[in-house]
Amino acid sequence: MSDTVLSAQSLSKRYVEGRLDVRVLSDVDLQVRRGETVAVVGASGSGKSTLLHLLAGLEAPTTGYVDVMGERISGMGLRQQGQWRNRHLGFVYQFHHLLPEFDALDNVALPLRLRRMDQTQARARAADVLNQVGLSERVLHRPGQLSGGERQRVAVARALVGEPACVLADEPTGNLDRTTAKGVFELMLTMARVRKTAFVLVTHDESLAAHCDRVLRLVGGGVIEAEGSAAST
Ligand code: ADP
Ligand code: MG
Repeated sequence: MSDTVLSAQSLSKRYVEGRLDVRVLSDVDLQVRRGETVAVVGASGSGKSTLLHLLAGLEAPTTGYVDVMGERISGMGLRQQGQWRNRHLGFVYQFHHLLPEFDALDNVALPLRLRRMDQTQARARAADVLNQVGLSERVLHRPGQLSGGERQRVAVARALVGEPACVLADEPTGNLDRTTAKGVFELMLTMARVRKTAFVLVTHDESLAAHCDRVLRLVGGGVIEAEGSAAST
């Protein structure tokens, strides 16, 4: 089986609205391999979020294709695409999007419950992943009873519980102070290594980005690639 979990070919995105014509991405090629960590950096408005949306199939590209685990999601129907996405991709956002009335355990178990896994088994798996992200003492806390960093750790656990091939994270540490951001970022790099899950991480923080295997910089709609420090060690 191929080691590529996510691949994009000749990806372009152009927004045309009335007289506005914004070319955000042009001809982007990208391959992400199993367990690889890829940082995406670039100025505000350079198209980082747009790229992640295209990779996830949440927006349609103007030209080009996206393959997730060898299947072309660009041509799929909405329902099939949604199922494929839920099975193979995980998501972390800048704001945690946890359900406030659920404790950490049930927030993390939710993706499994949506796949109709029974509650006991789903909770057991959620507890395992919460333990891996260092929150075994916080499983019964609701989001309002957790710190910002702990909430993002729960969000990382929720993204991982379904064992996706790749997690797409849009500024996952953008809302945290530096020290906490570093801890959450390092957690994701550790999870990538331990669980062999690829991570595509959008970040403003160049020093964090440098810890990834690869760094992609969005400039003028194109991608300039550099190796991160992790690759050279
Ligand atoms: P980043 O995440 O790097 O800050 P975005 O991907 O959010 O950048 O946006 C890239 C560019 O695309 C911006 O100039 C933004 O205004 C434009 N853009 C994003 N979404 C839309 C949309 N739905 N319609 C028109 N322009 C958009
Ligand atoms: Mg963005």
